[in-house]
Amino acid sequence: MNRRGILFVLSSPSGAGKSTMARMLLEAEPAMRVSVSATTRPPRPGEEHGREYFFETDEQFDALIASDALIEWANVFDHRYGTPRAPVEAALAAGNDMLFDVDWQGTQQLKQQMREDIVSIFLLPPSLAELERRLRGRGTDSEEVIAGRMARAGAEISHWAEYDYVLINEELQACFADVRKIVAGERLRRERRGAWLTDFVRAM
Ligand code: ADP
Ligand code: 5GP
Repeated sequence: MNRRGILFVLSSPSGAGKSTMARMLLEAEPAMRVSVSATTRPPRPGEEHGREYFFETDEQFDALIASDALIEWANVFDHRYGTPRAPVEAALAAGNDMLFDVDWQGTQQLKQQMREDIVSIFLLPPSLAELERRLRGRGTDSEEVIAGRMARAGAEISHWAEYDYVLINEELQACFADVRKIVAGERLRRERRGAWLTDFVRAM
């Protein structure tokens, strides 16, 4: 019953709840892999190299680009972020689903390269005021960084219509339930189910 892996892309303005949703989904779906991006931004308290991100210097990031080790990369909030290529190709070949937390630029680039394999989900906050409350409540960023993220929220939100699914992350559990329905439904799509289904029907 082997099928190709699906690449689930989750985007939202910063603070709308992507990381929280990703954490919940990975807990519920032990077979799902997460794409760990490379970034030149410094780690936040509690973040570990190789777990949240591969934290790289500018020179190291240049070398990753030069050796074609990134499927896509983009500038976000004055730092560079990129998706390592090798784990994605391995997951697809092995039939494992993978989860990506990338911005709209990363989503566009991934879609250009692997449209058939991508399912994109955009999370909206219930309001901009609530988005700011969440950024503040997270307690990981300075006022200056929060102001920068709020200033960019409109630009990120303006890409909402480029996504396959758009969810409003108002009540966490309800939004998570919708994410799981999307995952379940996409796995059942005919074109993803592999040659065995054709053989199965023919053999009937
Ligand atoms: P992102 O990864 O999109 O930047 P986070 O997942 O870090 O956002 O969420 C930002 C903050 O909002 C966190 O403190 C998180 O616990 C909180 N949060 C996420 N979803 C909800 C929700 N539905 N209701 C209330 N708070 C939420
Ligand atoms: P943060 O600094 O809050 O962890 O992430 C900032 C933004 O960078 C988020 O919108 C996140 O989706 C985006 N991002 C993280 N990794 C990547 C990546 O590999 N590629 C792209 N294009 N964006 C990324």
